[in-house]
Amino acid sequence: MNIPLLVNAAHPLAEGFEPSSLSPALPGSEVLLESECAAALTALVRAVGGEGKIIAVSGYRPHGEQVLLWENTLRTCGEDFTRKYVALPGCSEHETGLAIDLALDTGGEVDFIRPYFPYDGVCGKFRARAAEFGFIERYQSGKEHITGIAAEPWHFRYVGAEHAAAMAAHCLALEEYAELLTTRRSLHGQREKL
Ligand SMILES: [Zn+2]
Repeated sequence: MNIPLLVNAAHPLAEGFEPSSLSPALPGSEVLLESECAAALTALVRAVGGEGKIIAVSGYRPHGEQVLLWENTLRTCGEDFTRKYVALPGCSEHETGLAIDLALDTGGEVDFIRPYFPYDGVCGKFRARAAEFGFIERYQSGKEHITGIAAEPWHFRYVGAEHAAAMAAHCLALEEYAELLTTRRSLHGQREKL
């Protein structure tokens, strides 16, 4: 079983990384995601009756766009806020095409950095079934010391249904889960060598 791609400040993406293919995150959306991830998101939103209620705010960001976002946020919101909510360029899951920021459509303006995606209603239904469709809420409260990112109720990462179910069942952040799989794999390798 492949270990899901881990991207954070300690694990930057390979230079020049590009998703293999991109599709609209949701039908008619200008936001793009890696195609398998986009299909899974569309199915999940449909399954919870979220069409027209759940909006894709930000998905795939080319490296240059992450650089601009980092610089603009730094300039307008200061360093503390930026380090809390914006990943360093080269270390953002958004550069993989496997991460999506979502908002509940309230008819008002959408906050691009911190979209409103509450825990109840259709957003709660979305979360309850997310793992089934391969998504995890990536930056949960209580895991900040592990992820290095503040709680982000709006940011979901596609890891595939099998991994998502295991992570949800054991309340593991992707960092913890990837370490567990790596350790397991190396133990297995040692056993095979004996
Ligand atoms: Zn995000």
